[in-house]
Amino acid sequence: MRFALVNGTRADPQPGLKGLCQGCQGATVAKCGKFVGWHWAHKAGAHCDKWWEAETEWHRAWKNRFPPDWQEVPLLDQGTGELHIADVRTPSGLVLEFQRSVIKPEEVRARESFYRRMLWVVDGCKGDADRFNFSNGRERPNTDGLSRFRWPGRGSLFARWQTTTPVFIDFGDHGFWRIMQFDPTTKNGIAGIVDRQKFAELAASGITARPSALPVRPSRGGRRFPAAGLRSEPRRGCRVGRRTA
Ligand SMILES: [Zn+2]
Repeated sequence: MRFALVNGTRADPQPGLKGLCQGCQGATVAKCGKFVGWHWAHKAGAHCDKWWEAETEWHRAWKNRFPPDWQEVPLLDQGTGELHIADVRTPSGLVLEFQRSVIKPEEVRARESFYRRMLWVVDGCKGDADRFNFSNGRERPNTDGLSRFRWPGRGSLFARWQTTTPVFIDFGDHGFWRIMQFDPTTKNGIAGIVDRQKFAELAASGITARPSALPVRPSRGGRRFPAAGLRSEPRRGCRVGRRTA
């Protein structure tokens, strides 16, 4: 985790610092090593949020597109006592989950049920071949930024995300794409190219409090998604690898 409570205030880890988990109030210790990015860990070992995954620079870079106060927001289901820590939660209540590791469909559904208004951002650079397979299998985007593709790979990257919740895949320098359609049988799909910064601005705005404000069905031709948000952006490196927490 990036944050823990130190004297009641959210704080970044510093060598030797001790704190409390914002979620479970358990003791946390600052891990400030050379090889793994600085982070907080529960002193007891296991993370209190069973959905928490070891963070990478990719997670941190995405979360840092949003204000610190919106990052790592603990949420408690008063009825069940279930506790989870949202990667980002905007003031309007939209949760963004940044997902690198493979998760089962049951967990996808469980998280969507818990957070209700949310969207997924998936690291498409985890599998080394995925971004190349996607680029090789797609057409050029049309004027609405939509691109038909055929998934040639054996990997299940697209097939895993059969959900009505908006899913965006970050292929690093191969672009940031929203899955519009994907048929796991034919392996044909449609994806929309999205500008990362515009996406973050839209997600941060009250306009996107309803996740339905973000989806664009191909038949609607991008009416509800500003054209600027679908344009390509300068290429950037694909951040892979180094864990930070
Ligand atoms: Zn905790």
